Order: sequence, then C-alpha cells, then structure tokens
Amino acid sequence: MYNYLIVGAGLFGATFANLVKAAGKSVLVIDKRNHIAGNCYTENVEGINVHKYGAHIFHTSNKNVWNYVNSFVAFNRYTNSPIAKFKDKLYNLPFNMNTFNQLWGVQTPAEAMAKIEEQRHQANITEPKNLEEQARALVGGDIYEALIKEYTEKQWGRKCAELPASIIKRLPVRFTFDNNYFNDLYQGIPCGGYTALVEKMLEGIEVRLNTDFITSRNDLKSVADKIIYTGPIDEFFNHLFGKLEYRSLRFETETLDIPNYQGNAVVNYIDSKYPFTRIIEHKHFEFGSQPKTVITREYPDSWALGKERFYTVNDERNSNLYTKYKALAEQQSKYVFGGRLAEYKYYDMDDVIESAMNLAKKELANG
Ligand code: FAD
Ligand code: UDP
Repeated sequence: MYNYLIVGAGLFGATFANLVKAAGKSVLVIDKRNHIAGNCYTENVEGINVHKYGAHIFHTSNKNVWNYVNSFVAFNRYTNSPIAKFKDKLYNLPFNMNTFNQLWGVQTPAEAMAKIEEQRHQANITEPKNLEEQARALVGGDIYEALIKEYTEKQWGRKCAELPASIIKRLPVRFTFDNNYFNDLYQGIPCGGYTALVEKMLEGIEVRLNTDFITSRNDLKSVADKIIYTGPIDEFFNHLFGKLEYRSLRFETETLDIPNYQGNAVVNYIDSKYPFTRIIEHKHFEFGSQPKTVITREYPDSWALGKERFYTVNDERNSNLYTKYKALAEQQSKYVFGGRLAEYKYYDMDDVIESAMNLAKKELANG
C-alpha cells in the first residue's frame, strides 16, 4: 500500500512524485510507455540527445520553477531562434527587425512600424474573430501571407479563417534586432537531455513502465490511498460523453553522415508544397560537435484513437466536452487529475511543473 499512485512519468507526475517523496510519502509511479519523461523524453543516438516527441525548449519567468529544475541538472545557454524558409528565402523568427529587414529592406523601427501600420490600416480589423484576422491585425498582410498562412494551415489542417485567434497570440512581435523566440527571463536545455532531468527527479522512486492504468485499473486502484492521474481525462471515463479531439504529429528521423545539416536547431518550412512543417537538427540544442547529425522532419497529422495526442483542439465542442468530464472528475475523491492530458490544456513545461508543485503543496498541507 502506497500513499500515492502516480499515473504517468511525465513532468507532472515526476514533479509531484519527487516532492511528496521528499516529504516522506510512499509513492509508486507507473507509465504505459517503455520510458520515463513523457513527451519531453530524449533518446541518445550517436551521442546526440534526440527529442523523440518534438523539439522541447525550456523557458520560464518563474524563478521557483527555474531553481527547482536546475537543482537536478545544469541547463545550457540555448536560446531558441528558429529560421523560417519561404519561397527559397530564409527569414528570422519571431517577427522582429531582422525579419522586417529581410521582407521589406527597412532598417529602422520607425520604417518597420510605418509599413505594418499601413497594412493594418488596409485590413481595417478592430475585433479579430479568427486567426487570419488576428494575424492581419497584428502584423499586416505581407507577414501573414509569407510566414503564417501556409504554415498554420498545414499545422492545423484547417483554413486560418476557421481557426481561433488564440493560436497566434503567443508569437512575439518586436521592433528590435532580437531573434529570441521567447520573452521569458530564463531559458535553456538540460545538459544531457530531458531524460537525465526526469531520471534525477525520480531517483529513489519505484517506477513501473509498460503499465497501463486503464487496462489494469481493477488491480491498481487499491494499491494507494490516492491516485494522481495524468493520462487523457476522456479515456479515464471510457469516453462516456464522446472523444476529445487532438492534432497529432508524425516524425521521420534520420542520421546523416555529415556534421552539420542546417546550422540551426529549428527550421520552419512555410510553403504548402512541403508536407512537413519543420526540420529539427537535435545536436544544435546542446551545441554538439559529434561527427554525425540526426534530423527529424515533423509532419502534422490528423488524430484518431491509437495515435499520439499532441495538441489539444480548444474549440467550442471540445471545451464543452471537457467541462463535462471535469465536473465528473471533481466527484472522484480518491483521484486528482493533472497535466496536459488530464486537464486538456496546452501547457508549457514550466506551467506543468508549477501546477504539480502547487498540488504537492496542497496535498502535503492536508497531511
Ligand atoms: P506528458 O509528458 O504527456 O506525460 C503524461 C504521461 O502519462 C505519458 O508518459 C503517458 O505515457 C502517461 N500515460 C497516459 N495514460 C496513461 C495510462 N493509462 N497509464 C499509464 N500511463 C499513462 N513545452 C515547453 O515548455 N517548451 C517547448 O518547447 C515545448 N514543445 C512542445 C512541442 C510539442 C510538439 C508538444 C506536443 C508539446 C510541447 N511542449 C513544450 C509541451 C510539453 O510537452 C508539456 O508541457 C509536457 O510534456 C506535459 O507534461 P505532462 O506530464 O502533463 O504530460
Ligand atoms: N506559426 C506560423 N509560422 C511559423 C511558426 C508558427 O504561422 O513559422 C504559427 C502557427 O499557427 C503555430 C503557432 O504559430 O501553430 C504557434 O507556433 P509555435 O512554434 O510557437 O508552437 P508549437 O507548434 O511549437 O507548439
């Protein structure tokens, strides 16, 4: 008998397990996959840490979270600065003075602002109702057409006019020559990869892999006083109200016998003629100097039961459905639902850790 059974060895489960274990609780962590670390899992190939479920860059403004992750492993100085390729030309991201110079030849913030203002004025949008309108209102038609439209429509499999504006709101627009994709105070990649980080978090904790809670529920539900569930919430309730939708991804990874393929960790392929959205060259996350390189092409994919769940689709149907599951979850006194799948939420890693820290604090305060 354990105090806690934690379903899922991703960052939510690992953080919660680590904190309650340090406070003297007994814990068992299970995961249905054959590895720990959830979606930020990295696997060593040719000495390079390969991000198996897509590129993961740790960034946060939360000092507590930053100190917490740094207490397990050191983080390097990686700063995400993706390159976008459109019609065989390269542009810097996020949208900043370098991008404006590459697009229009403008050299000063005043010139760039005037250019964007002119296009915003032409678009004449006061209250953006969808992603296309949001983009046109934010950065004008040129940037929308060159760097947003085709990428976004590939990524989501829908027209920009049919997508929520919220998707694009987190992209920074800057009138400085600053290619840092994030605005956060702290950023980096754990030295040795994310698996090393989660391994440290789970040190001294019993972990059972290849163990699916849903299929072994009858045996597992009585092994602990309380269960922290980080799997899909609809699956927990046998899809009682229907399936929550996701957007999936497919990855094609190859090892190349050259030291440097694209000179950057992330290159976005905007044109619709490419079926993938980006190529990741993993060694550049850790400034690797290995003789070979590993690259991954990331293809957006529709989701069906059995495929990996990557992005939540937070439209009205799914939001209503989630509200129903959430109400049911709140009635389960033995269970707590947390993390990106159980809360059906686009969660960055730092937010997931913060949320698990808060839960651990609450649980420990209750004895
Ligand atoms: P997960 O990591 O998904 O862990 C949940 C675990 O539960 C999984 O290991 C799963 O196997 C297990 N599980 C599920 N069901 C069961 C079951 N029935 N029985 C047993 N185990 C089960 N965030 C950032 O901060 N920066 C980034 O750059 C970034 N990039 C991303 C890129 C992509 C393509 C995606 C999709 C996400 C990205 N994220 C990024 C978000 C990040 O992946 C999440 O914040 C984080 O992984 C969530 O952790 P979690 O523990 O909630 O979920
Ligand atoms: N996006 C875009 N062009 C790009 C990169 C991103 O239009 O070159 C849009 C796209 O709609 C995407 C959103 O911005 O879904 C968020 O992209 P980001 O790379 O920040 O998120 P991720 O896919 O890594 O979660």
